[in-house]
Amino acid sequence: MEIDFLLIGQGIAGTALGYRLKHAGKTIRIIDQPSGNQSSRIAAGLFNPITGRKMVKTWFADFLFPEISPFYKELEKLTGKSFLHEKPIYRPFLTIEEQNEWMGNSAEEGFQLYLDSIFTDSQNKNLRDSFGGVMLKKSGWLDINIFLDSMQEYFSKELIQEYFSEMELKREDEFWVYKGIRARSLIYCNGLGAMESSFFGSLPFAPVKGEILELKQDFCPDYIVNRGVFRVHLGNGIHRVGSTYSKHDLEVGATDEAKNEILSKLNSLVDLPVNEIISHKTGIRPATRDRKPFLGKHPKAKSVYIFDGFGAKGVSLVPYFSKMMCDYLIGGTSISKEVDIARYFNYI
Ligand SMILES: Cc1cc2nc3c(=O)[nH]c(=O)nc-3n(C[C@H](O)[C@H](O)[C@H](O)COP(=O)(O)OP(=O)(O)OC[C@H]3O[C@@H](n4cnc5c(N)ncnc54)[C@H](O)[C@@H]3O)c2cc1C
Repeated sequence: MEIDFLLIGQGIAGTALGYRLKHAGKTIRIIDQPSGNQSSRIAAGLFNPITGRKMVKTWFADFLFPEISPFYKELEKLTGKSFLHEKPIYRPFLTIEEQNEWMGNSAEEGFQLYLDSIFTDSQNKNLRDSFGGVMLKKSGWLDINIFLDSMQEYFSKELIQEYFSEMELKREDEFWVYKGIRARSLIYCNGLGAMESSFFGSLPFAPVKGEILELKQDFCPDYIVNRGVFRVHLGNGIHRVGSTYSKHDLEVGATDEAKNEILSKLNSLVDLPVNEIISHKTGIRPATRDRKPFLGKHPKAKSVYIFDGFGAKGVSLVPYFSKMMCDYLIGGTSISKEVDIARYFNYI
């Protein structure tokens, strides 16, 4: 069986790129091991244009954000499933100074696209927001599990659910041969799995563990609340709340420390008891040292590529960068310098 591309990994990265390539008429196979660290299956799925403690426009926002909604809506139409939830994000102010600062920000042109309203008083008796807050737009969340499951049906003829081992890989003529599949090119989209690869294992990945809770609590607004932690209403009084960031503890498994941190931050946001904790999950984000993705071609091996390193923001990065990568692979266009792995060729 001869194909154009063999992709390794069907998280959001492999799914988006696989779709773009298939849609462009290329023949593909995707090998994905449905166990181990699957960051996408744990993620909250938020996309948020204004982030960080200092609340700045997220890196590349003006390129990334116009692609998000059209891309996921196209895939909703394709699969007949619903997974994109466009919702505003409300961020309470902590001080009057912060309120004033935001009044100033609101006049800046670059922010206006993402700013819905600024409130100077509390928006709900259940919120600890006595100084008001800012309501952001162009934000929301992706139900990643529904997205991935729906796309698995779309890839039913292309998806192979097993572990990919480089021990089984051979080079024959112009092909990479893997268990009877003859692929012209290989693309690693396997998140932290790429750290085990002989091609890309030496790239500077910088994994970050995250823990996340699902819990029952009253007060179910139609917006996401975000300050220290985010709180997303999933329906039926169930909220997803998180996440923690740890570069030091990379052990798989939930910790009481992270649970208490999330609950304490939630308590400083919402003035209500938690009725029940439903789940506590952990995953490891495929982040990189300079916090930019890894896109590009291996400098020595023939036709071996990587599309990885989406860190804490896969949902917002992947629509734009999968297009860039697909155009590069089949149209020969270039990859932005910031994300091209050429910046780390001295590591490979
Ligand atoms: C707690 C937490 C919260 C997060 N919240 C958000 C959020 O709100 N918004 C956001 O945008 N991002 C969030 N993220 C980050 C997000 O999960 C990642 O950016 C994104 O999922 C990365 O996708 P990926 O496809 O590159 O990697 P992954 O999802 O890890 O997918 C890689 C796939 O490759 C497979 N694989 C690996 N090695 C092999 C192999 N040898 N053979 C076969 N298959 C293999 C794995 O099984 C997996 O299915 C969060 C992450 C965590 C942990």
